[in-house]
Amino acid sequence: MAYTNTNYQKLSQRYLFAEIAQQVNDYKAEHPEAQLIRLGIGDVTRPLPKASIQAMHRAVDECADGKTFRGYGPEHGYDFLIDAIIQHDFLPRGIQLSREEVFISDGAKSDTGNIGDILSTDNIVGITDPVYPVYVDTNIMAGRQLRYIPCHAGNGFTGDIPQEHLDIIYLCYPNNPTGAVITKEKLAQWVKYARENDAIILYDSAYEAFIQDEALPHSIYEIEGAKECAIEFRSFSKTAGFTGIRCGYTIIPKELTSADGQSLNALWNRRQCSKFNGASYISQRGAEAIYTPEGQQQVKDTIRYYMQNAHYIHDSLARYGLTVYGGEHSPYIWVSTPEGEDSWSFFHRLLTQANVVVTPGEGFGKHGEGFVRITAFGTQEASIEAMQRVKKIL
Ligand code: PLP
Repeated sequence: MAYTNTNYQKLSQRYLFAEIAQQVNDYKAEHPEAQLIRLGIGDVTRPLPKASIQAMHRAVDECADGKTFRGYGPEHGYDFLIDAIIQHDFLPRGIQLSREEVFISDGAKSDTGNIGDILSTDNIVGITDPVYPVYVDTNIMAGRQLRYIPCHAGNGFTGDIPQEHLDIIYLCYPNNPTGAVITKEKLAQWVKYARENDAIILYDSAYEAFIQDEALPHSIYEIEGAKECAIEFRSFSKTAGFTGIRCGYTIIPKELTSADGQSLNALWNRRQCSKFNGASYISQRGAEAIYTPEGQQQVKDTIRYYMQNAHYIHDSLARYGLTVYGGEHSPYIWVSTPEGEDSWSFFHRLLTQANVVVTPGEGFGKHGEGFVRITAFGTQEASIEAMQRVKKIL
């Protein structure tokens, strides 16, 4: 007789975005004429950078020829991509990494979800609230105890340093969903806390490319001592439109050990070798091309496009009298609902009266109540049209 993992029964019934999709589909079925503008789910709309497209075409051609065909690659990724990452994402910020500290993957969702494989289920996990739901769900699946760290305007959505002991802390800056960023000073306080508590910070930096102010940290390793207490996750999804191509990476410094003295780098390597067969050669070649001068320019142009949307949405909603956060170093705009409306009712009103789909903040956690998240990943036309519609119903 096979039994299931009963922790799954503790999960909320549906994944947030599946729930929203269901509600939107129901509305669409009843109102087939409605022209919906979707600024809810965080998927991108701009095409891939040309440099990546060309590189992936070349990679397919290589695989079409027996002499250059590639089969299984290294589980931790190809050196050509690892070297480009170290060279461009870390060395210019004074961060030295060896090849063995960079693990290429099929994206940050899998890595932030799977990292728990190498961590004890007895660990107590600190989760900022509101939060990217993957951290919550995967820890519930594993049966770990969670402690929520409230994030609100009062602490700049960066959480107060806990008074209690936590073993693992998830941080994500620029943040999904609030669009908040963290200063080096505040991040240093988190690193200090982790070192004093023998805790590990799981730092999700999937949106670092959207940072507009050079004083803000792109990597947690810009903070002294972070290599001994932090793992960092990165993604090419939002930077270069790789949401469908799939490629990301995780940094686990050799200096990082668990409270019981184990090397997390060695454990993750062991885990990946047993459970993962590498990101595809084609997507890794596409990711490598992002680091060429043309690729870098194309990525910058795409980010500028989304950030123009972000500023437009932010400024429009502020002009309409709403209280608005984020959107400055992030593609997410975090908007207070009008007085007297909770986040799901405002979501419904926007859906049914403006035909604009956003994400109810409550879906990201208790402290997301009273907010909705709007993304800047739509087209410029859609962002402008959406704001005109929203203005009419406010
Ligand atoms: N981390 C955060 C905070 C995200 O918002 C997302 C995607 O929305 C991811 C990770 C997932 O990234 P990937 O597409 O690389 O799996």
